[in-house]
Amino acid sequence: MDYRRTYVRDLLSLKPGAKTAAFGWVKTRRDSKGISFVQLSDGSGQKDLQVVIPEGSIPDTISSQLTTGACVRFDGEIVESPAAGQPVELRADGCEVYGPADPAAYPLQKKGASWEFLREIAHLRPRGNTFGAVFRLRNAAAFAIHEFFQSRGFLYVQTPIITASDAEGAGALFAVSTLLEAHGQGYKLQSPDPAQDFFGKPAYLTVSGQLEAECLALALTNVYTFGPTFRAENSNSSRHLAEFWMIEPEMAFCDLEGNMNLAEEFVREVIGKLLERCGPDLDFFNLRIEPELLATLRHVVESPFERLPYTEAIKMLEASGEAFEYSVHWGCDLQSEHERWLTEKKVGRPVILTDYPKEIKAFYMRANDDGKTVRAMDVLAPRIGEIVGGSQREERLDKIEARITEMGLPMEAYGWYLDLRRFGSAPHSGFGLGFERLMMYVTGMKNIRDVIPFYRTPGSAEF
Ligand code: ATP
Ligand code: MN
Repeated sequence: MDYRRTYVRDLLSLKPGAKTAAFGWVKTRRDSKGISFVQLSDGSGQKDLQVVIPEGSIPDTISSQLTTGACVRFDGEIVESPAAGQPVELRADGCEVYGPADPAAYPLQKKGASWEFLREIAHLRPRGNTFGAVFRLRNAAAFAIHEFFQSRGFLYVQTPIITASDAEGAGALFAVSTLLEAHGQGYKLQSPDPAQDFFGKPAYLTVSGQLEAECLALALTNVYTFGPTFRAENSNSSRHLAEFWMIEPEMAFCDLEGNMNLAEEFVREVIGKLLERCGPDLDFFNLRIEPELLATLRHVVESPFERLPYTEAIKMLEASGEAFEYSVHWGCDLQSEHERWLTEKKVGRPVILTDYPKEIKAFYMRANDDGKTVRAMDVLAPRIGEIVGGSQREERLDKIEARITEMGLPMEAYGWYLDLRRFGSAPHSGFGLGFERLMMYVTGMKNIRDVIPFYRTPGSAEF
């Protein structure tokens, strides 16, 4: 056995007469007039291989183990399939069971199991149709994202996961410490003094690689990160994970306009590639999960995004006559219900909102001349709301220092970050795109827990 076996996906395009072996897991098995039919999957594609087992061709002791979930190899011949739905099938003349799965105990039996139940068996759910499709799409999207940046000369850079700079201010932090020691069923705190800790000061899991990516962009011009990001979001929302993957391009010599252009090209090109390459999986989501999926994805690829200043958007929301749970006024942070109204009801395609009030955005965003707004941009998408958050960065030393003081942030914590403005500063911009938000968008899945193999949310860190 070696890795050069043929994937099920490729077996389906073999010519009748080919002698071959098929490896995989039994999805279903049914018997009719002494003949057994097995749907075999190895996760390589949307379509399973139908294996036909003529009466008496394999011993009963083996045949009895061919139940849902069992891992097997079939040997046989590719033959034309009389049934609709597949051109060929495998007529088995031999079989080896690598791992049986007791039908009385195997949890992934019934069709129509709830999403909640499947989350409890996150170690087995990749074998189901939906999760196979989600993880194949996730792979294709990751590849398309690297292609997008690589083809434009961006360098893939790796920023740290552990950071002792609490400067980002993007979300609630997870502490990283060796001062906590396992002690019986609980913890023992060796010292409350951060100076005694591993890094000699408080350290955290990163909430964003942006500040470090800025250092690299101000040397290498165009860079991007694609890595894990952590936020101790204590909300049980369907759009937030405690551990998620973020893509963060950062570009020197780029203003807000260029930043918006890149974000828009990015979303459209990546989705376009998925439409080209993942047809069968997208068809599946369109049929089973979200009936408007293909239509909206094609629409996104074809139509330019609407660009709208925050102030305009507030006026539209105020004039909407909708009964929102959270009321709207200039200066408020938009809630998901507002974002969705704008993009779904008002505009009907993705919207880029720009020039937000400085009070609701981070200290590093470039100040506009009006003294009230900053060069921020969020891309909002129908069905999920915010998918991208970005800005032109404040590159002027005096302005950024003034903002840090105004916000009461500790100036000394920003030493190296301010150095970028002290030495060879440049206009620059970037954004962060949540990979799982993108995956929700392209699959139509409604809960972010279902587009990552193993989800981390409050109370959930098993598997
Ligand atoms: P939101 O308002 O939706 O919580 P945010 O304003 O906190 O998002 P940013 O700090 O701008 O988000 O992060 C950039 C991107 O990362 C977001 O546009 C989103 O796609 C994604 N993101 C942020 N927080 C999470 C999370 N907890 N889980 C998954 N993705 C996230
Ligand atoms: Mn958030």
